[in-house]
Amino acid sequence: MPIEFAEKLRRIPVYPAAAAYDLPDGVAMLASNEAPFAPAESVQAAAARALAGVHRYPDPAYQSLRAALAARYELDPAHISLGNGSCELLLAAGEALLEPDAEIVYAWPAFSVYPHLAAAAGARAIEVPLDRDCRHDLDAMAAEITVATRLVIVCNPNNPTSTALGLEEIDAFLAKVPRHVAVILDEAYVEFSLTVGDPLASLPLLARYPNLILLRTFSKVYGLAGLRVGYGLAATDEFRVATDQVRQPFFLNTAAQAAAVEALARQDEVERRVSATVAARETLLAGLGDLGCWVASSDANFLWVKLGPREVAPTADTATVEAEIVAGLRRRGVLVRAGAALGGPGFLRVTVGTAAENARFVAALSELLG
Ligand SMILES: *Cc1c(COP(=O)(O)O)cnc(C)c1O
Repeated sequence: MPIEFAEKLRRIPVYPAAAAYDLPDGVAMLASNEAPFAPAESVQAAAARALAGVHRYPDPAYQSLRAALAARYELDPAHISLGNGSCELLLAAGEALLEPDAEIVYAWPAFSVYPHLAAAAGARAIEVPLDRDCRHDLDAMAAEITVATRLVIVCNPNNPTSTALGLEEIDAFLAKVPRHVAVILDEAYVEFSLTVGDPLASLPLLARYPNLILLRTFSKVYGLAGLRVGYGLAATDEFRVATDQVRQPFFLNTAAQAAAVEALARQDEVERRVSATVAARETLLAGLGDLGCWVASSDANFLWVKLGPREVAPTADTATVEAEIVAGLRRRGVLVRAGAALGGPGFLRVTVGTAAENARFVAALSELLG
């Protein structure tokens, strides 16, 4: 007889992980929005130095990283939450905020971890469709807030569609959300956004909206996806205290913390990566335009690519065509994500890689479409 697991396991969606990692060398990894650059030498050295002390548990207050983040963002360290990746903070937020009969509001398609939160808690997920430009429809989201709403997530720039809204629009939306409803602004890609303009630009919102949490990560522009560090910024300690309460004390390892402190200090490196990525994004965009694909306006290190012109609606064989293209790309050594698994049939999500990887992707797609 099989083991009998909790009923919620039948509700929790399985995370649509990228293809298996048993890959030959030289595959263009354009499926997970990671940085194509290895961490700076000084960041690798900081992690290596920390290894000498790993017979001790990490400092459960994570003071060095909290202090570094507090200095950069001019916040009280007590108002900064940390996680084993920002995904862990998202799951902790779900656990701390949701329960049966509570509601969570987010756009769809958005980050594939969000549906997990309601499913795990037995809460109701209200998924609000994006507008025709694949952007958040904040008016429609505001209209979904009820007495049952506990959490609203806005992903800006949005994964998987890469689109961003300006902070004036976000500000106007926040003004409509009651103080007791937590709002997570997931800014995993904010550094790449020309619409937002500056990763410090959203900080002043915190002072005006004490229910707002800016969620950030070291996995994307900072290039530490394999070490798992995320953080939340807020104007009060409410979110940190609650999300710490639902987790084990030692959620962040010592080497990851040391690497994150050093990576944060290397803003020169961040700027270099952003410029390289934005330039490569433009080249990739031009190449896809030549193939007749509509591409959503990108504020991130990835593109949301329609396999054909904008106005063609999905048909019965959209999924087959998409799957064949993803498989064809894979055979040509290029990994991307199929849109269907991310809530957007007929699309591909492709990470901006190195110039060589991007060129290889465009050439392979051209062969497959032609
Ligand atoms: C990649 C990503 C994250 C970051 O996840 P980590 O757990 O920090 O690696 C968070 N939100 C979105 C929208 C993402 O795409």
